[in-house]
Amino acid sequence: AVGHRVVHGGRTFYEPTIITREVISEITRISPLAPLHNPANLIGIEAARTFLPDVPSVAVFDTAFFHGLPDAAATYAIDRGVADLHAIRRYGFHGTSHDYVSHRVADFLGRDYDELNQIVLHLGNGASASAIAGGHPIDTSMGMTPLEGLVMGTRSGDLDPGLVLHLHRVAKLSVDQIDTLLNKQSGLKGLCGENDFRAISALIEAGDENARRAYDVYIHRLRRYIGAYMIELGRVDAITFTAGVGENSTPVRTDALAGLEHYGIIIDAERNAVRSKEPRRISADDSEIDVLVVPTNEELAIARQSAAVVA
Ligand code: AMP
Repeated sequence: AVGHRVVHGGRTFYEPTIITREVISEITRISPLAPLHNPANLIGIEAARTFLPDVPSVAVFDTAFFHGLPDAAATYAIDRGVADLHAIRRYGFHGTSHDYVSHRVADFLGRDYDELNQIVLHLGNGASASAIAGGHPIDTSMGMTPLEGLVMGTRSGDLDPGLVLHLHRVAKLSVDQIDTLLNKQSGLKGLCGENDFRAISALIEAGDENARRAYDVYIHRLRRYIGAYMIELGRVDAITFTAGVGENSTPVRTDALAGLEHYGIIIDAERNAVRSKEPRRISADDSEIDVLVVPTNEELAIARQSAAVVA
C-alpha cells in the first residue's frame, strides 16, 4: 500500500480510506477548507496512482483523531446557519501524531490508554496541543484550519478576528496577502526573522531583543493552553512533548512548565537535559504528573493504519 497523509478530511472522512476516484473527488470538494494542503496531498495521490497503478493508496486524515471532539469544543460561537452551510467548525490537525504519541505514552507508563488523562504538546514547525480524557480527545488547539492555536514557526496561531478585518479595511491587504502574512510570515519568523529554535537561541544569547520577545510570546501562549487543558481535564496523568521543538529543546520544556510545583509538576533538570531518540520521563520521581518526551512517528502510524485497511 501507499499511505498518504491528507490534511483535511472535512465532515466526510475520519477513518483511513482506500483511495478511489470517488474519494479523490470528495477530497477535491473539501479542498477549500485546506487550500494550502489538500491540493498538494492530491498531487502525491495522483503520482502514486500513476506510477504504482496496482498498489492501493490509502488516505490517512490529519483531522480524523479529533472527529469526536465534544460539541462545546468543536463549535465556534457564530451564526449556526452560516456555520452549517460552510462546514465551519473546529476540526483539529496533527491527529495522527497526537494519536500515536498518546498511545506510546500509555505503553511507556504501562497503563491502560482508556484510563489516562493526557496533554500532548506537538511542537514542530507547526504546533498544536491536545487534551485527551480517558482515551478520547476533548480539545485541541488547531481549529477549522491549522492556523489557530499556538505560536508556530511561521503561523500566528490565535488572533483577534477583528485584526484580520483591520488588515483588509485599513492596511488594504487583499485576502491572499493576509493569508500569506498569517501562514508564512508570522509566528516566530514574523517576530524575529527566524523560525528555527536553534537560530533563535543563538540570537537570544547574542542579546537580540526581537528573538527574546518571540521566545517569550511562544512560551506565554503555550502555558495558556497547558493551563486551560489542566482545568478541562480536571486530573492530569501525563504531559508529553513531541516533534522537532518538543523533542529537542530543553529550554522550551523547562519554561513551559516552570513554577508549577503546586500543580504537581516538577521537572528534573538532569533528565530534561538528556538528548535521546527514545521515549523518556523528564519529571522528578516526586512529580505527581508524569512529564515525558516521546518522539512522534507519523510515517509509521500512517503505514500501520494503511496496512490495516488493506489487510
Ligand atoms: P518538525 O516540524 O517537527 O520537523 O520541527 C522542526 C523544528 O524543530 C525546527 O524548526 C526547529 O525549531 C526545531 N528543532 C529541530 N532540532 C532542534 C534542536 N536540536 N534544538 C532545538 N530545536 C530544534
